[in-house]
Amino acid sequence: MNFEMTPRQKHVYDTVGALGRERFAPRAAKHDVEASTPLENLRDLYDAGLLGLTISEDLGGMGSGTAGKDPLLYLLAVEQTSRSCMSTGHCVHIHCHGAHYIDKVGTPSQREKILGGVIKHGHLLNATGSEPGRTARGLYSLVTTAEPVQGGYRVNGLKNYASLGDDVEYNLIFAGIKDRALPDGHVGLLIPRGAPGLTSLPGSWNPIGMRGSTSPSLKLDNCFVSDEQVLGAPGIYPRERWQAKFHLGFAAQYLGGSEGIFDLLVEYLPKRGTASDPYAQMRMGEIRIGIDSVRWLVYRAAWLWSQGDMQQAELFSMTAKHRAIENAVLTMDRAAQIAGSSSFWADSAMSRFFRDMRIQTLHENLDKTAATLGKFHLGQPFDTTTRL
Ligand SMILES: Cc1cc2nc3c(=O)[nH]c(=O)nc-3n(C[C@H](O)[C@H](O)[C@H](O)COP(=O)(O)OP(=O)(O)OC[C@H]3O[C@@H](n4cnc5c(N)ncnc54)[C@H](O)[C@@H]3O)c2cc1C
Repeated sequence: MNFEMTPRQKHVYDTVGALGRERFAPRAAKHDVEASTPLENLRDLYDAGLLGLTISEDLGGMGSGTAGKDPLLYLLAVEQTSRSCMSTGHCVHIHCHGAHYIDKVGTPSQREKILGGVIKHGHLLNATGSEPGRTARGLYSLVTTAEPVQGGYRVNGLKNYASLGDDVEYNLIFAGIKDRALPDGHVGLLIPRGAPGLTSLPGSWNPIGMRGSTSPSLKLDNCFVSDEQVLGAPGIYPRERWQAKFHLGFAAQYLGGSEGIFDLLVEYLPKRGTASDPYAQMRMGEIRIGIDSVRWLVYRAAWLWSQGDMQQAELFSMTAKHRAIENAVLTMDRAAQIAGSSSFWADSAMSRFFRDMRIQTLHENLDKTAATLGKFHLGQPFDTTTRL
């Protein structure tokens, strides 16, 4: 067992931490008010050489990602970004996931063209499966339909929560192939910016939290997608359980957000005059213990991805994510008890972290996660991609 970061991991942790403190934190309120994408933060990450974290080294990336050589590397960037701005943290997570999927599943020319654009020009990517009503229908049961036509597919439907949807070079969306059963009826499509038939719906993004991770609804109206823009063989996303490779990116956000709340308390309690109060001290200790325990679950889960046993990596990632959410909720409760009402003015950083955390933790159904782990231990059939 080795609990030390490698020099490269430490470099990413420190670089993103400094960017977060000096640049992302001061910009966070503006993007929260406007519900606008923190593009300058993403450009800062590009300038620091960090938009290719989950792209393979042969293309000039850093080889991270759950299916990459150094799974922890990108998670450190997500964690440290979320520590100052949870919305930017989600943008980094979704960009890294989209890039990683294209890297591992794309054709050589898709990899070169699209991932080359990330490395050379700072292009952004995403991945959108979400659709209205999907929670009830199930993760892969998509009503956005890709109808096979000469040379490609004609796509019709509505996607929602398309993070970075207005800012990416290619929207990676998932659709159901007309009249084809799952899993082979599930397909990934790369839709270029400005494609005829693709519209981002104005006013479709106005949540109470995570406002900077702008995630509009996208309408697809007879949108033609050529064979060259089809990503991977039909069914590959469910069959290779790519959704399970998503868990840790969320866990890193909850960890980073909890650290962000802790940072605010360290700064605020002395100003409030309560740093010597025994109860404030005790709560700070409790919060610290929670954060550090989550950190090692997340880091161990990342390590498991490099050990070759995918099932264990998936299950332990769910463990880390579950614990990260429970701890985030506890952190908020404990922080509120010692911060007091004055730190919760509507435009305060503390309020923003609380709103962001409340919305972002809805990515998981804790009960279903726990039940999945229970099924495994009881020898029952289970699915690590069960999510909501
Ligand atoms: C900050 C944030 C960022 C996100 N980013 C992404 C992302 O990048 N990619 C991604 O794939 N997902 C993303 N998601 C979405 C997430 O994965 C879930 O899909 C989403 O949170 C599900 O919300 P829900 O359970 O309320 O929706 P659901 O319960 O699935 O749907 C509720 C909505 O659907 C409508 N509805 C229900 N049934 C029907 C029907 N039959 N026909 C039409 N409308 C219907 C309801 O009126 C309501 O508007 C993001 C979510 C958040 C909060």
